[in-house]
Amino acid sequence: MVTVEMNQIVYQRPESLADMPTHYCPGCTHGVAHRLVAEVMDEMQIREKTIGVAPVGCSVFAYNYFDCDFVEAAHGRAPAMATGVKRVLPDRVVFTYQGDGDLASIGMGEIVHAAARGENITVIFINNAIYGMTGGQMAPTTLPGMKTTSSPSGRDVEQMGFPIRMPEMLATLDGAGYVVRRSLHDPKNIRMAKKAIRLAFETQLRGLGFSLVELLSSCPTNWGLTPVESLRWIEEHMLPVYPVGDYKVAQALAGLRV
Ligand code: SF4
Ligand code: MG
Repeated sequence: MVTVEMNQIVYQRPESLADMPTHYCPGCTHGVAHRLVAEVMDEMQIREKTIGVAPVGCSVFAYNYFDCDFVEAAHGRAPAMATGVKRVLPDRVVFTYQGDGDLASIGMGEIVHAAARGENITVIFINNAIYGMTGGQMAPTTLPGMKTTSSPSGRDVEQMGFPIRMPEMLATLDGAGYVVRRSLHDPKNIRMAKKAIRLAFETQLRGLGFSLVELLSSCPTNWGLTPVESLRWIEEHMLPVYPVGDYKVAQALAGLRV
């Protein structure tokens, strides 16, 4: 007979994640991203000194889901708020959590200049190629030919421009210490994403400048796909346009094993 005592806990909620249900749609990988950030906070034992900055977008309520200090920014302004928080409280670990509409559209100025200034902050950038919260409109990261509610015939790059690859662009700035892209579409890539988040926080703790981890993420609701189809869609359609990779890794991080 199996007793309760004989059962071993092999999987549980990280302490840095609040014990409450989220509002995210079924199959949305925002939940995976939250969990990875929380696991890293637990493992590095930095929860008590971490301050998150929540965006506008689907993750607007991120402050409810992490069990650490949090502030809420106006749309796109999270890097500016994080700059202020970090400069006033340099001993804290400060991170923003932003989607592609928030970071790469209205917040483009903030993110570019925070990176250029070499602000010692960490950015978790969720790219799902669409404006999620507002109803599936075209985002700066929408793929060529991709149908959205504001590009119903598909994104025509002649008329609507090309997708923006944020890490590739930000990596050109001297203030950036660690800039990478990862994906949340399968377990192997999720493990790699967690390591990258850990290295991004290490970058900040070592004072090596701006760090950003882009995470290719699913939006089954606005893509009109099932959760499983959405993961396949990331692999088949997003990865060719947004390859995972390390775009900038400060010399001081080389060889660091996490
Ligand atoms: Fe996730 Fe998309 Fe739902 Fe937003 S709209 S919670 S990104 S599935
Ligand atoms: Mg989005």
